Amino acid sequence: MPAIQNLTIRSKVALAFGLVLAVTLGLGLFAIERLGHVHERAANTRDNWFPAARALGDYAFETMRVRQMEAVIITAPAEIAASELQLMTKIAGDAQKAWARYRRENLSPEAHVQADRIAAGWDAYMALDMRLRNMIAANQDASAIFAFYAGDMRRAYADWRDVLVQLIDLQAREGERNFRAGDMAYRSARGWIYGAIGLAILLATAAGLFMIVSIGRPVRGLTGLMNRLATGDMSITVEGTERRDEIGDMAQAVQVFKDGLAERDRLHAELERRARIDPLTGILNRRAFRELLEREVARARRHGRELSLAMIDVDHFKSINDALGHGTGDRFLVAITEAVSAALRSEDLFGRYGGEEFVVAFAETDLAGAIQAAERLRVAIAGIRLEHEGRMYGITASLGVASFGDLRGESGETIDSVINTADQALYNAKAAGRNRVLPFKPTLVANSAA
Ligand code: GH3
Ligand code: MG
Ligand code: MG
Repeated sequence: MPAIQNLTIRSKVALAFGLVLAVTLGLGLFAIERLGHVHERAANTRDNWFPAARALGDYAFETMRVRQMEAVIITAPAEIAASELQLMTKIAGDAQKAWARYRRENLSPEAHVQADRIAAGWDAYMALDMRLRNMIAANQDASAIFAFYAGDMRRAYADWRDVLVQLIDLQAREGERNFRAGDMAYRSARGWIYGAIGLAILLATAAGLFMIVSIGRPVRGLTGLMNRLATGDMSITVEGTERRDEIGDMAQAVQVFKDGLAERDRLHAELERRARIDPLTGILNRRAFRELLEREVARARRHGRELSLAMIDVDHFKSINDALGHGTGDRFLVAITEAVSAALRSEDLFGRYGGEEFVVAFAETDLAGAIQAAERLRVAIAGIRLEHEGRMYGITASLGVASFGDLRGESGETIDSVINTADQALYNAKAAGRNRVLPFKPTLVANSAA
């Protein structure tokens, strides 16, 4: 089966049709051959049995007339008897001709034996007939002639006639046998032809089913897979790629198509990730942070929950870059990211806002809680130590904190206003000496707004 599976569809179709054609041709030839047997029997009946039966019938009729003519001859007046004798001689000749025709036919051995007896019996009767004619010619006594005709001749004729009747019987039986043989030949031919038709139907059906299973079904399967791929269903498994026919080629093409879609999805996800993630620190960039913050603000409003922000700016970072190099500056930014991430809860948001500035959103946290949390972050940053050319260096950051709830009654609670307020608080922290946390102070906001 796998060998057939690997044939091309063209070869499969050719094979199936070739098989059906061969079987049909074989069936036709077989039917003709079988009908030949029937015809042979019919021809035998026509060519042998009918002519033989007819010749035998003629023979029986003419011989009977000879016997009747003899009766006429012995009773008729002399001048009539002479002309009747001529006619009888002719009839006897006709009987012999019919007999010769009969013997020429293709007789059975049994019929030959009977026929020999008939011939011998007729010769003997004709010898008696000759004696009868001699008695008439010699003008013998009429009563002696009658006695001979009704005595010896009748017995000889009756015996001979019995054998003839037997031969006619035998001939009839042989004819019947011949007919039965023809009938049998017809019945057996019919049976064989029915069987062959059944076999041909079976093979044609098998060939059709094979085509459906081996070609139709996989093509439908692949079409279904393509439809599912088109709707974005990537969970499909492509079957039939191992086949070496056109279906296998199709399956491989579908597989390549699916792989291409998977690669496209992967690249898409990667691009999406890159658009949201800061490459140096691996945390949210400014845009992604803002998107998530908007969602968080909406949720906090819906549930009437607190939400606070902290802006973080590294102290004198320019000097660190200048003194230790940009590479070490980068390592400090990564270390800060790790320290802050470790100090935050999972529901808090953390992003790089730009350069050496970070932003944190504390979920479900009011201003007081945010100040405490920011203080923990400050301590964590201040605890960072990095080695540069054999010496250890530390770093500090300033943090400005603002809460959405506290702004509600003041400048109005929008994301921009809260970020501006936290920035303002950060500025204050820088001004107050750095490495510290300062909250939003309404008076300061009010003053700066004034
Ligand atoms: P201040 O305490 O007032 O914040 O002083 P500062 O030096 O930190 O402030 P300033 O804004 O003048 O300098 C920020 C510096 O941060 C300038 C820039 O070179 C550096 N910086 C910004 N982004 C990166 C970065 O990705 N890597 C490194 N190594 N340095 C950066
Ligand atoms: Mg700065
Ligand atoms: Mg700075």
